[in-house]
Amino acid sequence: MNEVRPNPLDATRHQLEIAAESLGLDASIHEVLKHPKRSLIVSLPVKMDDGTVEVFNGCRVQHSDALGPFKGGVRYHPNVTLDEITALAILMTWKCAVIDIPYGGAKGGVCCDPKEMSPRELEHLTRRYATMILDLIGPYRDVPAPDLYTDEQTMAWIMDTYSTFKGYSVPESVTGKPIILGGFKQREEATAMGVVFCIREAVKHLKMNAKKSSVVVQGFGSVGWNAARILHEEGYLVMAVSDTKGGIYNPKGINPVQVFEHKKKAGSVLGFKGSKQVTNEELLELPCDILVPAAFENQITRVNADNIKARVVAEAANAPTTPKADKMLNEKKIFVIPDILDNSGGVTSSYFEWVQNLTRERWSEREANQKLERMMVKAFDDVYRISKQRETDMRTAALIIGVGRVAEAIEKLGLWPS
Ligand code: NAD
Repeated sequence: MNEVRPNPLDATRHQLEIAAESLGLDASIHEVLKHPKRSLIVSLPVKMDDGTVEVFNGCRVQHSDALGPFKGGVRYHPNVTLDEITALAILMTWKCAVIDIPYGGAKGGVCCDPKEMSPRELEHLTRRYATMILDLIGPYRDVPAPDLYTDEQTMAWIMDTYSTFKGYSVPESVTGKPIILGGFKQREEATAMGVVFCIREAVKHLKMNAKKSSVVVQGFGSVGWNAARILHEEGYLVMAVSDTKGGIYNPKGINPVQVFEHKKKAGSVLGFKGSKQVTNEELLELPCDILVPAAFENQITRVNADNIKARVVAEAANAPTTPKADKMLNEKKIFVIPDILDNSGGVTSSYFEWVQNLTRERWSEREANQKLERMMVKAFDDVYRISKQRETDMRTAALIIGVGRVAEAIEKLGLWPS
């Protein structure tokens, strides 16, 4: 395994091994869980605006549906690989099990550069992709959602393609769609809200003072910006944030709303008044109480793990810490809130959207937020309790719960034909 940038599937299987060992997992169930139940690779010919035809590669990977229909995002990115999508599908399985929602894990991806494509090209690509995976998806089979460089418009096109083939409108076929089509109002904020609920619980358990706790956030996209804003509203001292171009730092604190306004005009957080510019590498190593990696995978590696000074690392991004770095953070007694717990507010809001679509109900904002808080706090407490009982870190505890629940379901379902 290349430890600085490990293959995501190797890293995910390594995590499964740790959980399997702690659980004393049956070897055959361990073997089943190492592999996705189904992977479909598709070729997507699209007529581009200049009249030429380009063929894009895509896939949909379904890991486990032992606890319910498959659920997972679709990402558009030039570097999408089958291993990465498989790893993310596996992580989704554990995430849904940890937060205790009746879903299994899936993920999809298309190898393309959406920044270089016109809206028409993206629509044709999306409808072609939806058509090619049509037999695999559906409200009781597999429910796609947005992920990197896909959004509510992408989901509207998938829903429309699916509904057209069915002959009637099926809003429950996707989540993360526009509100007018049955989307969920707080979806944009839900992941960040979940991150903040977890931080609040961690601060309580570690007997830290929220009002005096300083925060550094890497990434100022949907999750990073909302997390920074809510933490600032709750009285935490947000000292630094960053985007792809770099970071800004002010030990006296910055106002994320003002940074957001600045970024809208300037195109980056850089240049925000009263702040010092830092690189993304320097940002991760700033002295602070709480570090929130909310950008990309593999940001905390064996190269910089020793320099992390935070007391708490709240993994808002998926897989921001490599296995080796994770071990180093644990040795330094840094309290890591693992991704499969910390960012599970996102899939929980997808679950809320799906339930409302299936029942044709609409919940109030207050009702939904209260449900989210209850579920996140319970999941955090479950993981924390297991970490104390087994004298282990939070990631291993979360994996013990997630893998354990899925394994129990597989055992009850049985292997057919045996
Ligand atoms: P986004 O595209 O809205 O934002 C990503 C941000 O990270 C942008 O500000 C970008 O400039 C910045 N960035 C990218 N590469 C960077 C780098 N190397 N260093 C510093 N900043 C960098 O994405 P998002 O929806 O906010 O997702 C962020 C992470 O959270 C991803 O790992 C995603 O898989 C995960 N996640 C998101 C959700 C959700 O609901 N959006 C749910 C669960 C997990």
